[in-house]
Amino acid sequence: MSLSLNEVVARLSEGMEQGGKGAFPDPLVVADGAIRQVPEYIAKRGFGNLSIAADANTYEAAGRELEAGLRERGVKVLTTIVLPNSQGDVVADEASVVQLLMDLQRNNSQAVVAAGAGTLHDIARYAAYTAGLPFISVPTAPSVDGFTSKGAPLLLRGDKITVPAIGPEAIFADLAILRLAPAALAAAGFGDMLGKYTSLFDWKFGSVTAGEPYRADVAEITEQALLACVRHAEDIGRGAEEGLRVLTEALIASGLAMLALGHSHPASGAEHHLSHYWEMAYLRSGHRQLLHGAKVGVACAEIAAHYHGLWSAGMFAGSPWREAVGRELARVPGDSVLRGLLRKAGGPSTLEELGVEEELFKRSLSEAHQVRLNRWTMLRAVNEG
Ligand SMILES: [Zn+2]
Repeated sequence: MSLSLNEVVARLSEGMEQGGKGAFPDPLVVADGAIRQVPEYIAKRGFGNLSIAADANTYEAAGRELEAGLRERGVKVLTTIVLPNSQGDVVADEASVVQLLMDLQRNNSQAVVAAGAGTLHDIARYAAYTAGLPFISVPTAPSVDGFTSKGAPLLLRGDKITVPAIGPEAIFADLAILRLAPAALAAAGFGDMLGKYTSLFDWKFGSVTAGEPYRADVAEITEQALLACVRHAEDIGRGAEEGLRVLTEALIASGLAMLALGHSHPASGAEHHLSHYWEMAYLRSGHRQLLHGAKVGVACAEIAAHYHGLWSAGMFAGSPWREAVGRELARVPGDSVLRGLLRKAGGPSTLEELGVEEELFKRSLSEAHQVRLNRWTMLRAVNEG
């Protein structure tokens, strides 16, 4: 049985030294029609001037309805349709952030609502943080586990950096809207969750071999969210109601686990380092970006193959860790199982389907651990060993 989000919040708050429940978004609504609860919440908070951040697609999916509901309540609303870059993508870069910031000033906004997927949340959370305003999340696609994040990955002069921002004070995830999101985005959300197989392994590996801080209760919450998605891979692939609810709750649970810890260990290991490495290579070459979760899903299968291969070849022979590492690695399925799951969920399952060249992959396998040197993973241990 998997945990409800309320149970996840209760469990995570128990283990927190301070802040407890107050550290999490409240309310945290995942339901059909959740968007209709936003105007009442805004009225209760006393915000008379509000900004909505959307793009052309998410405005149609959620922004327009939000705007109408808020205006009915007498709230003054200014919607910012964040414009795409020259390649046609809406990205979290300095131009998008400044576009939103200027609208916040013009409207004298008291809060920012993000109506969109991961990128719009990053733009909105950083603009809100910079303007000193609260931020409210209305996700439009179950595509990433970063909705609750307190950090924003931004592009500055073409380079990717992650800067402090704020997390949402409330989340309204409307399943009726999330079900209408493009299938590729749900498949990407599944890929981001599947990546927890290797990130959880790397977290445990770092704790066993390098004394990195570890919390078994948080690992278990992330693992349960992962396994719920695995059980529903097919439902997610065909866009079934139950599948998309499970996926949305799993992504939020994974985000809450990171929020409780203040770091991303449970949700980001070597598979994310490969994904970041590919992303930076694509940025440098001016290539259009791939979906984060699509990269993470394929990277997870590649890392699983790599780790299992190293183990079979006798890695750590004679080391006191060999047995413990073997035991943990046995919990990571082989790459053919992982690729099968990715296919069921409707996403790319190989480097070729994803569009990442063999040469870039080979380079990333030996260099990707350098993108996050504050993290100990088996990939890093192998490459530096
Ligand atoms: Zn991710």
